[in-house]
Amino acid sequence: MNFELRKTARGLTDEELLEDLRRVARKLGRDTVTISEYTEHGIGHATTIQRRFRSWFMALENADLKPSRSRIGISDEELFQNLRAVWISLGRQPSYGEIKTPLSQFSAGTYEKRFGGWSQALVQFVDWVSSDERAEPDEPQIETESAKKTWPKARKTKREISERMRFRILVRDGFRCGACGASPLENRGTELHVDHIVPWSKGGETVPENLATKCSRCNLGKGDAFEA
Ligand SMILES: [Zn+2]
Repeated sequence: MNFELRKTARGLTDEELLEDLRRVARKLGRDTVTISEYTEHGIGHATTIQRRFRSWFMALENADLKPSRSRIGISDEELFQNLRAVWISLGRQPSYGEIKTPLSQFSAGTYEKRFGGWSQALVQFVDWVSSDERAEPDEPQIETESAKKTWPKARKTKREISERMRFRILVRDGFRCGACGASPLENRGTELHVDHIVPWSKGGETVPENLATKCSRCNLGKGDAFEA
């Protein structure tokens, strides 16, 4: 049996990592590389590349490769997005047996094949969902004179809450409405929203400390007291 220790990719420069991605693509005769292909043929760990370039997609883009697609045309991104949707609708981590229609667009087998096992798929998903922090804020959005007086400083964060950040807040809050405790765990179909506590327009930043989970009923009912 051939046994070879995988070299750590941490000691490699960004350019060396990208070159290794391109090398694997050339070896496979393709213009893209999936995480599982890289795990098989690359010299480093896919997770190191994801951390270094924020995501697998960013790494592919930096290497001038195409976003990875399987033979049947499903990208890793789509698989992660689907897993996030299933996770949110259950209000918890889905089990292997739950990855099927109608809850999931893709089968558990698709995840196994792509990532080399279900637990590997979950590890990659957690990496993906933890990795989209964009540091740059929007252009200062100061619309009125009074807003200028109250909030003269440029904003640190964007107003928009990214899908991945929403997911992380839902996980933090245990998939429960902070006001009434409603959760899809008990009532399938409960819709949870993640919103700013101090509205962005009032200077609240898009940071975990200023984000809270609310069910759609409480969220609508909050009215002006919460939003204005
Ligand atoms: Zn509620």
